[in-house]
Amino acid sequence: MLDLGCMLGEQMPQLKILQHQPLAPYTSFRIGGPARLLALPEKEAELSGLLQFVHAYAVPLRILGGGSNVLIPDEGIDALVVRLPADGGIRVEGRNITVAAGCSKAALAQAAASAGLSGLEFAHGIPGTVGGGIRMNAGAYGGEMCGVVQSVTALDPQGQAHFLVNEELKFSYRHSFFSENPGWIITSAKFMLMPDDPEVIYARMRELAARRREKQPLEYPSAGSVFKRPEGYFAGKLIEDAGLKGLTIGGAQVSQKHAGFIINRGGATAQDVRRLVSEIQETVYVRFGVKLECEIEMW
Ligand SMILES: Cc1cc2nc3c(=O)[nH]c(=O)nc-3n(C[C@H](O)[C@H](O)[C@H](O)COP(=O)(O)OP(=O)(O)OC[C@H]3O[C@@H](n4cnc5c(N)ncnc54)[C@H](O)[C@@H]3O)c2cc1C
Repeated sequence: MLDLGCMLGEQMPQLKILQHQPLAPYTSFRIGGPARLLALPEKEAELSGLLQFVHAYAVPLRILGGGSNVLIPDEGIDALVVRLPADGGIRVEGRNITVAAGCSKAALAQAAASAGLSGLEFAHGIPGTVGGGIRMNAGAYGGEMCGVVQSVTALDPQGQAHFLVNEELKFSYRHSFFSENPGWIITSAKFMLMPDDPEVIYARMRELAARRREKQPLEYPSAGSVFKRPEGYFAGKLIEDAGLKGLTIGGAQVSQKHAGFIINRGGATAQDVRRLVSEIQETVYVRFGVKLECEIEMW
């Protein structure tokens, strides 16, 4: 078998690469076995080189943002996992903010608030990065990424840069152009926001944070809502009405606080979560005839 780690190290000596690195610490579920290779680029130029390598050697590629919407298998993943750098510039120009895709949504929302720009309050409490949020068209409390993203820069699987405007991003509920094109990497995004009083924006963010703390089991590792909202229903309500609150398999449990969440009570495996997901889907289907579709991505 090719020693891809060595080859990549020779071609890109500056790039930080880890071999057989457990991915659990890189996810909000705290679950997941090792990646064959984990690359931690610091600059966009490194990303383009990485994609050229991936293309040349047909290496399977996975992109990790904040790891807050993925379930990584216990046996790990035989791929090159690329984790975008957590920090990058945030540039405010008039009503626009441009940000690196690896920046957290929380930091972006803070920057918008302090610049007196409203529209990202909903995103403040959503874990993970801007890139992951755009890919998932993340949303909460009436706001959604598609409502504030003006344009995106991204690299295609060959490492070529592209500029895509909102209308090209095929946004729909928890879906975007990037859901259909998983080999693309979002590198930055530009947001269009509305001027408002920073104090009013901060107050809205505080109010939404309080609502999250009250309703969500934020004290446990999780990946947020496990299922998409089925048309005409709420997944959490169906699960609760099916009597599944508290159902436990291994270390994974249907949260007592919010039945839409599966929490890791300690030592949960991906297998525990998968079995719990199947049990929930089956029971809810038998009781209510509703098919629950996963929002979390199972790698
Ligand atoms: C406590 C909690 C609360 C949550 N609340 C909400 C909520 O209110 N609303 C909501 O929508 N979600 C919520 N989530 C789910 C999750 O936080 C969001 O989906 C988030 O936007 C995922 O971002 P991420 O960076 O963690 O993505 P990851 O989980 O790292 O990745 C998700 C997908 O995006 C891809 N991806 C990541 N970065 C890029 C990139 N730069 N370019 C291309 N593809 C990329 C990955 O390959 C993967 O397919 C919650 C999760 C938790 C743990």
